[in-house]
Amino acid sequence: MSESPVLVLNAGSSSLKYQLVIPETAEVQAKGIVARIGEPGSPVADHAAAMRAMGKDLAAVGVDLDSVGLRAVGHRVVHGGPDFSDPTIIDDDVLNEIKDLIPLAPLHNPGAVSGIEAAREEFDVPHVAIFDTAFFSTLPAAAATYAIPRDLAQNYRIKRYGFHGTSHQFVSRAAAELVGRDLGELNQIVLHLGNGCSASAISGGVAIETSMGLTPLQGLVMGTRSGDVDPGLHTFLHNELGMTVAEIDTLLNKQSGLKGMAGVNDFRELEQRRSAGEDAAQLAFEVYVHRLKHYVGAYLALLGGLDVLSFTAGVGENSPGLRAAVVDGLDGLGFLVDPELNDVRSKVARVISPDGAPITIAVVPTNEELAIARETAALLDSRSDL
Ligand code: ADP
Repeated sequence: MSESPVLVLNAGSSSLKYQLVIPETAEVQAKGIVARIGEPGSPVADHAAAMRAMGKDLAAVGVDLDSVGLRAVGHRVVHGGPDFSDPTIIDDDVLNEIKDLIPLAPLHNPGAVSGIEAAREEFDVPHVAIFDTAFFSTLPAAAATYAIPRDLAQNYRIKRYGFHGTSHQFVSRAAAELVGRDLGELNQIVLHLGNGCSASAISGGVAIETSMGLTPLQGLVMGTRSGDVDPGLHTFLHNELGMTVAEIDTLLNKQSGLKGMAGVNDFRELEQRRSAGEDAAQLAFEVYVHRLKHYVGAYLALLGGLDVLSFTAGVGENSPGLRAAVVDGLDGLGFLVDPELNDVRSKVARVISPDGAPITIAVVPTNEELAIARETAALLDSRSDL
């Protein structure tokens, strides 16, 4: 069975991203996206139609899913709730449990459910769910618990779950390989900075803190999300502006972050406007960096010492200026960046701190699709009954 591909699906409510990957070699045989699912005027009415559209797109590039020897389908599922802490083979019960989690992730899990249902109809191979929350199921209770009434938290499963777990796990493993040390002996911080942003503290390969919470809104400043705000802001906006809960949710998720502060959510554009001397862009950059420093310092304290700090995702992998700013002034804590190494443009994992620095600072490209394909294959390999 080895060398046969895994189909990795990331189904949202209106889009289906797909990749056909060989887990062992990381070879991507094909990839693409079906957009505008279910939107007015779109030829793609639902997720079943999206699967057919994907099949057609693949056929157009010479890939016939019926003859590639498809090993399995790996589904990215954003919210795994309190119970899913590992990759899981999807059967009817598991699908029902994922449906049961929709209240915890109303924007994300419905798309995943539709994608899984359509893909199970289409592909008669094992289907595996990879949960974005799973890597953070190890957070100690002190980190995962909100200081709200205990019964309320328990009855409604309110706690800090964390997201982007597949990426944080992949990057922390890759960083250990990069520095040539055992994962088990390393204290790490990973900064995943894409459109969504999150930080994690990882001790011996086990996550002990992360910046996102019950939802992906908590924590760092993001492209369009505010990250941390005073929870009293909701009351203020309601009392003063008469905003509804739904309006406040949209404001903080879609109209805040870099976009809210500077009018652009794309980091490259933010950097251009900053270079052109725009005050709003400059302040947005400073707020973004300030929040990052805040989390790096907090995680240093929680870990009690740090071996590796890794930057990943679109901004983390591609913005030397941002990386330098995050550790600027932290030499006394052991954070040193070699400006020449930092300026290198590359797609491979690399160290950007000088030789012998107390803390290794690295740029480690993330690859969530490959991670999902590998986790899917590993689960199947461990199950002789499938
Ligand atoms: P997603 O979270 O959607 O997967 P990505 O990881 O692709 O997003 O990150 C997207 C972000 O990365 C955008 O803000 C984009 O501007 C930023 N980015 C991409 N390339 C660069 C670059 N060369 N310099 C600075 N930022 C970049």
